[in-house]
Amino acid sequence: MDKVLRCITSNGGIMAAAIDSTYIVATAQQIHHTSAVATAALGRLLTASSMMGTMLKKSDASITLKMNGGGPLGSVVAIADGKGNCRGYVEHPEVELPLKSNGKLDVGKGIGSDGLLGVIRDYGEGNPYSGQVELQTGEVAEDITHYYAVSEQIPTVCALGVLVDKRDIRQILAGGLLIQVLPGAEESDIAKLEENVNQLNSVTSMLAKGMNIEEICRTALNGFDVEVLDEYSVSYACNCSMERVERALSTLKPEELCSLADETGYAEVKCQYCNHAYRLSVNDLKRIAESSHAKQNMEKN
Ligand SMILES: [Zn+2]
Repeated sequence: MDKVLRCITSNGGIMAAAIDSTYIVATAQQIHHTSAVATAALGRLLTASSMMGTMLKKSDASITLKMNGGGPLGSVVAIADGKGNCRGYVEHPEVELPLKSNGKLDVGKGIGSDGLLGVIRDYGEGNPYSGQVELQTGEVAEDITHYYAVSEQIPTVCALGVLVDKRDIRQILAGGLLIQVLPGAEESDIAKLEENVNQLNSVTSMLAKGMNIEEICRTALNGFDVEVLDEYSVSYACNCSMERVERALSTLKPEELCSLADETGYAEVKCQYCNHAYRLSVNDLKRIAESSHAKQNMEKN
């Protein structure tokens, strides 16, 4: 199982979170049959969402990240809960692109940079907080950094890595690092952090060397006294159910609902996050149509 770990410097000036998200990204690849570039795009966003989820400090809260950059991959979405468990999808998982001249997957081109990164934080108390910023590169990490700078005024370093084996796409290594400068930080802390960050290897190369996420955090915060705040086991997890499917369907018009069934008298509805198929009969669809119709009438009266 994957893990996220959060640390803080003992003067409270800098927080760092690191994740090994290898299994999460491999699971997403298997569920969505993503191409190499789609695996990297979705994998980076899932990796970021999991770390950002653990920062909500409330287990039943959730965070949704959505990138719409106009690229051939279409929308990329990731949702994480307050324990860092996450799920997501990419609109066109089959799209593949040539590698960049440096041999890396071209996530920036796949997602595109002509659009927005939307972030919704829902604490389950109504009125979710939502913000959005213009995409910078579509490479995900830069866009997350920009989001924190503009929308939350928190100086942030974000590094996200997904390595996909070119011969066997199921062989994946993935991880991330998110460092934030908190209000208590001194100028000298920031200078020291910048020096560390400039010398830091990529997260995937540190994982490949066998470093664990605590060692990665401590390397990023080299020279500081560091305390571990918390550690979570995280996985790719979907919370779909027949009840949720019915609730989603009840927003359709009755005639749309009943046209979903095929000639055998059944409709199959697939969860876009985990691909689980839910089978509904014509009678199920009629029942949903009637109850949503009755509810609408009640709301009118
Ligand atoms: Zn699902």
